[in-house]
Amino acid sequence: VKDAGRNGYQFYDESMQKEAKARWEIEAGLHRAVALNQLQIWLQPQVNSQHKITGAEVLLRWQHPQKGLVPPMEFISVAEESGQINALEEWVLTATIELLNTWQKQGLPSSFKRLSINISPAHFMQADFVERMLQILKKRHPGAVQIEFEITESLLIHNFINASKTMNTLQEHGISFAIDDFGTGYSSLRYLTQLPLDILKIDRSFIQQMEHSESDAAIVDVIMTTANKLGLAVIAEGVETHAQEQLLAERDCQLYQGFYFSKPQFHEQFYQLLIGQDGH
Ligand code: C2E
Ligand code: CA
Ligand code: CA
Ligand code: CA
Repeated sequence: VKDAGRNGYQFYDESMQKEAKARWEIEAGLHRAVALNQLQIWLQPQVNSQHKITGAEVLLRWQHPQKGLVPPMEFISVAEESGQINALEEWVLTATIELLNTWQKQGLPSSFKRLSINISPAHFMQADFVERMLQILKKRHPGAVQIEFEITESLLIHNFINASKTMNTLQEHGISFAIDDFGTGYSSLRYLTQLPLDILKIDRSFIQQMEHSESDAAIVDVIMTTANKLGLAVIAEGVETHAQEQLLAERDCQLYQGFYFSKPQFHEQFYQLLIGQDGH
């Protein structure tokens, strides 16, 4: 028994070491990723009730020479801890603006209104965040597509005053805001009225439980009603089935995002999809 215990401990120790090594490899690899052009912009459509694409969420991917396409879950938290998230998200905004400028030249359907970018709380709270974002936003050509930042409730809970200052300044420069994964944090309803917000994105855990759980359906009802009263739009995230879409439509949901409509696409495929639906 004693031996097993010691082995168990040893195993734990080894797996800790492996994990530390894996994180270190990711951190070192990320340093090269920007310079070697390994980061990619993928986009997931956001559609209206007629299934027309009205916007998209920018989702970062890392095309690793050995590991293949690495999903953000495997490197975002490492980048947040190492401080690399700032450089990554500056790359994301720069690349997104370049794409948007190119698309505007090539032609965009007028129904396409919004591109949303995820901003990590760690990045958002940096002292020079606004300044650096505004510097990048200067490269943007004038156009009708709104650039939106997706932030999380946790950011607002811990740093409400600073976060709201940052949001107000960026809003003055044309950025709009969505709250991501809404319903999963401990939000106060009051902050919703005090911030320059446009959209609540209902977390996919609620959408996926709606069919089977009355309490999850009730939470969706409350979010829809609240948003409506406060003049905020709602995007239902993670819609995977027709049944889910129907339940949401019954609740007057206007905007949807999820595998049922489309998985995230490499930006070139996304653009083809976008202009294809317009009958070009
Ligand atoms: P998120 O912001 O909640 O983004 C939505 C995630 O849900 C995406 O995963 C998307 O592929 C996935 N998804 C969309 N529809 C469905 C569905 O119907 N079913 C299921 N099961 N999943 C669906 P992805 O691309 O792997 O991204 C995971 C997370 O990584 C994102 O969650 C976001 O928190 C983070 N992330 C991605 N890009 C960035 C970035 O540039 N900066 C930061 N800070 N985080 C990012
Ligand atoms: Ca998001
Ligand atoms: Ca989300
Ligand atoms: Ca998230």
